[in-house]
Amino acid sequence: MSFLDKTARSFLLSELFGGMWLTIKYMFAKKVTLNYPFEKGPLSPRFRGEHALRRYPNGEERCIACKLCEAICPAQAITIEASSRDDGSRRTTRYDIDMTKCIYCGFCEESCPVDAIVEGPNFEFATETHEELLYNKDKLLSNGEKWESLLAKRIELDLPYR
Ligand code: SF4
Ligand code: SF4
Repeated sequence: MSFLDKTARSFLLSELFGGMWLTIKYMFAKKVTLNYPFEKGPLSPRFRGEHALRRYPNGEERCIACKLCEAICPAQAITIEASSRDDGSRRTTRYDIDMTKCIYCGFCEESCPVDAIVEGPNFEFATETHEELLYNKDKLLSNGEKWESLLAKRIELDLPYR
């Protein structure tokens, strides 16, 4: 840029007006930002978030305590203890997930033969303490009850994890 051009730009304030024009243009343009948490963007049906344990429609737990999820978990975040019921069926007496170890790989969900352990659509489960992220069976079952309609719909779609 020549000296003359630079001087003319300085005196005519062309860069200043250019910047103001850009500001005015974007004041009326469609917003690309969201006012989170009051507004939320769409969530992919493939999204895998907070874990949940599901029940059958009659209220019976789906989990048969086969421990496949515990064995496959690369983070060793799952701890299961099991025993047999009087009717001979096998059920968990303890099902814990340390959510601070979990890497959300989805292997537990993929390995489960009865669609019991699943990763749900909830991503808003930040806590203030480590202890609150040590989930036990009651917490996981209550997550399942809370999200069941969405979980069932996603499993029906049978979308690949990635
Ligand atoms: S998502 Fe992966 S890391 Fe997390 S509990 Fe399941 S298998 Fe383990
Ligand atoms: S959640 Fe599924 S894979 Fe894990 S122990 Fe229960 S039935 Fe087996």
